[in-house]
Amino acid sequence: MDRLKLQWKIFAYLIGFSSLLLIVLWLFQTVLLDDMYKAIRKNEINKAITLVEKHINSSNLQDIIHTLQAEKEIIVSPTQEFRPPAIPMQPNSRMPKPETITRTKVFALQNGQRLSLTFYAMITPVEATASTLRLQLYGITGIMVLLSVGLALIIARRVSKPIVVMNTSAKKLATGNYNTRFSGHGFIEIKELSDTLNTAATELSKVENLRRELMANISHDLRTPLSLIYSYAEMMHDFPEEISKEQTQVIMEETIRLTSLVNDILDVSKLESGTIELNPFPYNLTESIYITINRVSELVKKDGYTLSFCYDQEVTIVADELKMTQVLYNLLLNGITHGGDNKQVMVRQSVIGNEVKVEIIDHGEGIASEHLPYIWDRYYKVEKNHKRPISGTGLGLSIVKKIVEHHGGSCGVDSTRGDGSIFWYKLKVVNNSLKDGK
Ligand code: ADP
Repeated sequence: MDRLKLQWKIFAYLIGFSSLLLIVLWLFQTVLLDDMYKAIRKNEINKAITLVEKHINSSNLQDIIHTLQAEKEIIVSPTQEFRPPAIPMQPNSRMPKPETITRTKVFALQNGQRLSLTFYAMITPVEATASTLRLQLYGITGIMVLLSVGLALIIARRVSKPIVVMNTSAKKLATGNYNTRFSGHGFIEIKELSDTLNTAATELSKVENLRRELMANISHDLRTPLSLIYSYAEMMHDFPEEISKEQTQVIMEETIRLTSLVNDILDVSKLESGTIELNPFPYNLTESIYITINRVSELVKKDGYTLSFCYDQEVTIVADELKMTQVLYNLLLNGITHGGDNKQVMVRQSVIGNEVKVEIIDHGEGIASEHLPYIWDRYYKVEKNHKRPISGTGLGLSIVKKIVEHHGGSCGVDSTRGDGSIFWYKLKVVNNSLKDGK
């Protein structure tokens, strides 16, 4: 039954329903007709007796009796004059002889006399009536069968058509055609389903585009250092006597670049699958930030960058120090990469209530408002082809966001194109002690 097409299933249900209606109709018209007719007639005679009784002394008794005879075919006559009328011949011998009912009742008149009346009626339908009904039944059955088949075909087609159309589109989507559009209509449910599928298709196509972009980025980012390493190694192999410090330096730097890229990718996948293990311990955040800034400062000093740090008080937080250092490191590197000619990056730490806010402020290119909502998405890059000291895969900020959120904190950015950016994150403070900022 599961393999039956929806259209035929609806068709079967509708035909089943019509057949049921016809069976009930046939049951009433044939099997139950006789009994029902008898019961109705008996009831009519009882009503006639009550009516006559009510008007037994009235002057229009004769009219009532006439009406009963004309309309209800109930013969009322004084008992001593009553002769049962001849029963009409039944043309069909299969039809049983019609049954009759004769009831006699004595009524007390106003003048003290008594009047005995006999009520007579036929209580089985005569053949003419029965055959008329049967003929009607054949007609009704024929019309109903035609109508229900026609209606069932139309309804089944109307209901199943949009589903069939959507299924065709869904099959296309399943094969990877993410531009598939769903245009279901006709029913609210179908419309809603098609809207949902359209949203799903759009999201899938976004993910697919990001995946393609990532693959392009990663393969590009992997290929460049690998080919450099290969060519330098080849050179060293061919001319071992000419090995220079610079060549080995390039190999080492490119290996670091590769390692950092691979680590980024691993981090994102761990953070996304939730398999990351945090080791939260209470530690002095202010001191940790200070150390990180100093370390990065040493690295970028030669390129003319100045990093500064100001804070209002020292704070202790409970967090995974290694991961939080990575957050700061990513934001600092972004500030340096996108810091433009200003080459000044400031880190500001402030305590607001029971939260500590760390801001990384640069005065570089800034980010246009249309890009702001997306920069935290994995693989998102504003400039698709920008270069940076350490390879950028568009993963840095998504790692920042995931780590901060895993620690129950929040992060954000305030930025205007051309004016620089302030990236920030907030975390809960365990305790803090007031100290002069510097
Ligand atoms: P990437 O590794 O490409 O830098 P990120 O996730 O760190 O990836 O950043 C995503 C995008 O956000 C970057 O491509 C860059 O365009 C933009 N961005 C990040 N930080 C800054 C900043 N301080 N100033 C301007 N743009 C930034």
